[in-house]
Amino acid sequence: MSDSAYGALYVVATPIGNLDDLSPRAARVLGEVAVIAAEDTRHSARLLRHLGLERPMLSLHEHNEAARVSQLAARLAAGDDVALISDAGTPLICDPGFVLVRELRDAGHRIVPVPGACALVAGLSAAGLPTDRFTFIGFLPAKGASRRARLEALAERDETLVCYESPHRIRDTLDDLATVLGERRVVLARELTKTFETFLDGSAEALLARLQEDPDQARGEFVVMVAGAPPRDESEQATLEADQLLAALLAEGVGVKQAAAVATRVLGGAKKAWYARAQALKDAD
Ligand code: SAM
Repeated sequence: MSDSAYGALYVVATPIGNLDDLSPRAARVLGEVAVIAAEDTRHSARLLRHLGLERPMLSLHEHNEAARVSQLAARLAAGDDVALISDAGTPLICDPGFVLVRELRDAGHRIVPVPGACALVAGLSAAGLPTDRFTFIGFLPAKGASRRARLEALAERDETLVCYESPHRIRDTLDDLATVLGERRVVLARELTKTFETFLDGSAEALLARLQEDPDQARGEFVVMVAGAPPRDESEQATLEADQLLAALLAEGVGVKQAAAVATRVLGGAKKAWYARAQALKDAD
């Protein structure tokens, strides 16, 4: 396939449920490479059987990825083309392959993406939330305190937030979304491309209640999408910026009176009000 003396690494997306989603190009590449590096060879053998293909496979997962790099680099140097696949969807997206791709790219090898299914893109494409900007946060931390801290760090972001979630934690995650992010629109995309594909939307609290009354809705695989923070009104924004200025001055050791004078000069308004605000910030510190 590749016309140089070196082979190429093809990073091939595979279906996330519906096997018809594998592209003809992906099937052709998988049928032509010398070896397929797969996250779980037994799992991927089923896909190859479905395609009527028989190719040599070797496992590549988080525990042996670093060790596989030199082995696969040698195959490429010998002129063999190699494909990388994961259990489902696009390799490297919450799946193994990053170390391999980074190392091979650094070594000057040709890396060719063969795009296809990816759960986060499929979810976003049908959720009806803004997609002009979004932040994908992978899986949230398993422990409640770390999960809430991660969400708190994202609370001010105004773009759509997207994460992956398992059936074991979906209720806890909805609970934390309700606590930390409040009344935002959340869309749950469950079992995408599969028989029980479902989109549910509403506040995190309403969705949690829905999953509690119908436990079937908590089964399967999830993409969780959350509307970004609503725009602040102008006065709220102005207060926030003023607080940031005052806090920065106080942190630099500037006194309350002087901080109030600077705020008055920069932002206008009554010096007395800035003094009271600076004093309140200092007392709260
Ligand atoms: N590489 C994959 C991709 O491109 O989407 C993601 C792999 S990650 C280990 C698995 C997670 O992806 C699942 O826990 C779930 O959150 C999400 N996922 C995968 N398939 C899905 C599907 N059919 N429906 C909803 N979410 C899915």
